[in-house]
Amino acid sequence: MSDDLDAHMMQRALALAAEAAAAGEVPVGAVVVDEGGVIVGEGRNTREREQDPLGHAELVAIAAAARRLGRWRLSGCTLYVTLEPCFMCAGALVNARVDRLVFGAIDPKAGAVGSLADVCRDARLNHRLSVDSGVLADDCGAVLRSFFRARRAATKSVPQSVPGDLPAGRDDGDASA
Ligand SMILES: [Zn+2]
Repeated sequence: MSDDLDAHMMQRALALAAEAAAAGEVPVGAVVVDEGGVIVGEGRNTREREQDPLGHAELVAIAAAARRLGRWRLSGCTLYVTLEPCFMCAGALVNARVDRLVFGAIDPKAGAVGSLADVCRDARLNHRLSVDSGVLADDCGAVLRSFFRARRAATKSVPQSVPGDLPAGRDDGDASA
């Protein structure tokens, strides 16, 4: 696929990430594109809304593509995602037999496609993907940084230690989504 098409598809993933941010979700977006360059699945983080630890953008997009195509094997497909996939999503990409992964920003804390491990290119597994990273990486990282910056500011402005309340969660290092 051309660099232009890669950038175009990543722009769509970024738009989904922005939708997630607007809904109070960690802003990560993903699209699955078939061999003809048609989007067959889209997803964005839904973890808070669904209270579902599986609600990562990649899994949502993979499930949507499988439903649309009527097959679990997503051979011939490329998944675009704004952030380096975590272990769970990298494993799903292998199991779905996706051909190619394109991601934007690196996730040094939770990424499993080059940072903490390289699940998608592990020769011991029965399927490997071709991987390209860094597509619109600055934009993909910026949407995450501004989300966490805003969340930290909101946390600071909330009155501290209301009696009986649990401490507010501060998992701002957790960009996985
Ligand atoms: Zn994930």
